[in-house]
Amino acid sequence: MRVRFAPSPTGHLHVGNARTALFNWLLARGQNGTFILRVEDTDLERSTRESEQRILEDLRWMGLTWDEGVEAGGDVGPYRQSERLEIYAAHTARLIESGHAYYCFCSAEALDEQRKAQLAAGLPPRYAGTCRTLAPDVVAARRHAGEASAVRLRVPADREVSFDDLVRGPVTFHTDVIGDPVIVRSDGIPAYNYAVVIDDHLMDVSHVIRGEDHISNTPRQLLVYEAFGWSPPRFAHLSLVLGPDHAPLSKRHGATSVAEFRDKGYLAEALVNYLALIGWSPRGDDAASGEGAEEILPALEMARRFRLEDVSHSAGVFDEDKLAWVNRHYLKHVPAERLVDESLPFLRAAGFITEHPGDEARAWLAMVLPPMAASIDRLDQLPDRLSTIFHFSAAATLADEGLSAELSVPASRRVVEALAAETAGGAPLVDREAFRAMAGRVKDVAGQKGRALFHPLRVAITGAGEGPELDLLVPAIERAARLPTGSGLAAVLTVGERAAAIASLLSARTA
Ligand code: GLU
Repeated sequence: MRVRFAPSPTGHLHVGNARTALFNWLLARGQNGTFILRVEDTDLERSTRESEQRILEDLRWMGLTWDEGVEAGGDVGPYRQSERLEIYAAHTARLIESGHAYYCFCSAEALDEQRKAQLAAGLPPRYAGTCRTLAPDVVAARRHAGEASAVRLRVPADREVSFDDLVRGPVTFHTDVIGDPVIVRSDGIPAYNYAVVIDDHLMDVSHVIRGEDHISNTPRQLLVYEAFGWSPPRFAHLSLVLGPDHAPLSKRHGATSVAEFRDKGYLAEALVNYLALIGWSPRGDDAASGEGAEEILPALEMARRFRLEDVSHSAGVFDEDKLAWVNRHYLKHVPAERLVDESLPFLRAAGFITEHPGDEARAWLAMVLPPMAASIDRLDQLPDRLSTIFHFSAAATLADEGLSAELSVPASRRVVEALAAETAGGAPLVDREAFRAMAGRVKDVAGQKGRALFHPLRVAITGAGEGPELDLLVPAIERAARLPTGSGLAAVLTVGERAAAIASLLSARTA
């Protein structure tokens, strides 16, 4: 089995195309096949190397590595269409020679007029066949005189073109709806429907798996296979990925590209796992049971279970809540070191760490992040979970009316004063036990318990009325505050410094 993903480098990698790449990859990995990456850059105006690089980077980020293709090499390259123009030209000469293709001298204006006239007469627009029957000597003379010409495929009249789509079942088109298509433009650039056939054939592609938007191209491509006398590959057209309103997923639905989802803090394995579930459900090993298909599966396990027959032909709706659910699962299980690496861009953007945090800062992150990551959907929510560690201001806390009112009542003030006294110059509260023991002493001194104890403690320590558990925050704060300068972590105030600042502002008020 040889499959390919053939992106056009004219923008970012849309999740719909990423899903197409993934289904090809799953099939190749599960069937011991070869996954080829071919870049379709014949649209010279719109194709860029930057876009190509970004697409390759996104595929690698998703773990969809390819066995042959751009940058990987292989025996049937080059794998960039712009580097294959001579191959196409040699094939075009063959088709002209055999009479399956012909030169067309019609100008753009003439074609446009034809089209308008057909539309006005209520006919489907298609090439009228003006140059189809030009005598060979006329063609030779006009070409010799330097007249510009495209090349068209001679489509047989009144025929049906059929194929058995592996996802959608039998598909038939009538050649009446297909005018002779241009296969090579007058500037020598091959049309997509032409180059793709030559490439798929020469690259020995056995299964063409692509988006449903290409289904009407397939009969045109089959006619090219026929003209060359080649046997075509199998085809599978995947339904499109839709937004919640059942329109194709687009910008107005929000994020659409792989890069955008990465930047929102989805892990690659979560995006891959979720994309596979759009239109496919992994059968359990016990297929007879039917029920309870597992949904959280590592990519290679999905590959092992992947069958094109199990891919649904109805459109798949992209459900970001479900993606978030999958991501939560992976965030809970990701090893601490990896979580640190994945989180760095988000923490940097928030100003919590420098470009290159040292080992001590990394160790701190490895301690603090896993419990925080267990309660978020995406990594871009981490800075918010950590913000009270890095941002604390006694003045800002007391400028908040609600928090100020809470801390001003005598019972709370006793808690704050006891906290300030207990933490002044005391041992750092480096773990939950140390924090609990300190809270126990505050409880005895201030005579408060439960919420009347812990809520003022929270406000005085974090400057906020809610947030992650103090059991997690206090050791995180205390350890961060004691990292040496230059560790790469932003400055953090100790619990003692915070309590002292709040207590002194409160007493200044009443003085
Ligand atoms: N370059 C085409 C696209 O990006 C590829 C279609 C195909 O797989 O044949 O849509």
